[in-house]
Amino acid sequence: MFDSLSAKFSDAFSALRKKGKIKSGDIDEIAQEIQSALLDSDVALDVAEKFAARIKEQALAELDQVNRGTNPSQAVFEIVRQELVEILGGSARRIRMAKKGPTVIMLTGLQGAGKTSLAGKLALYLKSQGNTPLLVASDLQRPNAVTQLQQVGSDVGVPVFAPEPGNGVGNPIEVAQAGRKFAEDKFHNFVIVDTAGRLGVDAALMEQAAAIRDAVSPDEILFVVDAMVGQDAVRTAEAFLEGVGFDAVVLTKLDGDARGGAALSIVSRTSKPIMFAATGEKPKDFDLFYPDRMASRILGLGDVQTLAEQAKAAFDPQVSQKLEEKFAAGDDFTLVDFLDQMQAIKKMGSMSKMLGMLPGMNSGAMKKQLENFDESELVRTEAIVRSMTPEERVNVKILNGSRRSRIAKGSGRSVSEVNTLVDRFVGAQKMMRQLRNGGGLPGMPAVPGMPGAAKSGGKGQQPPKKKSKSGNPAKRAASS
Ligand code: GDP
Repeated sequence: MFDSLSAKFSDAFSALRKKGKIKSGDIDEIAQEIQSALLDSDVALDVAEKFAARIKEQALAELDQVNRGTNPSQAVFEIVRQELVEILGGSARRIRMAKKGPTVIMLTGLQGAGKTSLAGKLALYLKSQGNTPLLVASDLQRPNAVTQLQQVGSDVGVPVFAPEPGNGVGNPIEVAQAGRKFAEDKFHNFVIVDTAGRLGVDAALMEQAAAIRDAVSPDEILFVVDAMVGQDAVRTAEAFLEGVGFDAVVLTKLDGDARGGAALSIVSRTSKPIMFAATGEKPKDFDLFYPDRMASRILGLGDVQTLAEQAKAAFDPQVSQKLEEKFAAGDDFTLVDFLDQMQAIKKMGSMSKMLGMLPGMNSGAMKKQLENFDESELVRTEAIVRSMTPEERVNVKILNGSRRSRIAKGSGRSVSEVNTLVDRFVGAQKMMRQLRNGGGLPGMPAVPGMPGAAKSGGKGQQPPKKKSKSGNPAKRAASS
């Protein structure tokens, strides 16, 4: 998502960075490049033009100041980042709670947008914060929508109010109303109403959604939209805004390879914020939408905040503390610690999704590596480590030929894979020692299981060597 936009922004800025002082012609150029990058990413023409014009206006107004600073291109970059945050909605928006009784959230959108899945994701999110949500099956149209919601509810452990079988049978307005009443009686503090979509916008759909809205007086109407559908998403959003009205947008399928521009256009055209984003089919693939984090990702600054939050949730504080203490005491990082870390990484979901949040990952070479990243590499690495004895995991130096061959057999991998893992691990250990001794990260060897680490079979690519770059950030900056 946003990959091509991100790559184009990155190209435009690398050209700007090569310039010393920035002239008004350079601003014209970058505004033009940004506009065409936005258009290529499916952003509506008027939105792209407005965005580029605002960048231009602001950068020109601040040009003297920009050039007086130590890093003019960075100052322009910051203007673009700020504008991008604005166009994505400014700040993150939270759910508005009802003053009295349950908070009612109504989901609207086209069929296939991801409403039913989203209902489960949202329910899990609310539940994990200590709430007691109830799901209400008011999509009585789409075949199997009711059973799908029941399944989703059981997957996330949230009750589903489904008095009608659906598949065309039952009155969705009455179900919504009864669902709300049920939640009040049973003290659920959230009600999530799943409603029917259609394949396209039509009057009957709008009428039904509006009738459900009037029957349950939702505190939040969320318009759920598939980010993959491009420009059509904007038209659909406008139609729903007029026909039913909504308070915020939920973007689904942000894990897809759509160009993502629709997301930018919807906020701009409807003046409604994006509240949540879904990034996969699993109930956990869901988070609040943070405009500043998304802007950073688009600009290749990564999303370190989300990564840190996920890491905090996945890493056992006791394990982390143990590791910190070991590090401080001068003990070596061992394969036992490595196994602990791998467990946490597994909890955080896919490795490529996680690495994609790191700064610089939108550059061509890194992106290719990410795309080629083989998730099963982690599984293979883990199998090898698990085939070692506890003693071997703590001290890889004892791994002679016969031990290596036993490990290879035990894990079902080849001896050369075992050798590669051990070599890379020793490299990583060395790096940790250098880090501890304040030596920086010379050469930065790849860690086993990470992109750039040799593929199984031992003949994989090596991490690209950065020829003359110093490991010392200060030196590196001075030499570039
Ligand atoms: P509804 O008709 O709006 O209720 O849509 P569904 O919830 O049934 O979703 C339609 C399809 O999209 C299903 O196959 C979902 O698994 C899939 N889906 C929903 N959200 C996401 C997402 O964020 N990422 C991906 N990759 N698939 C999704």
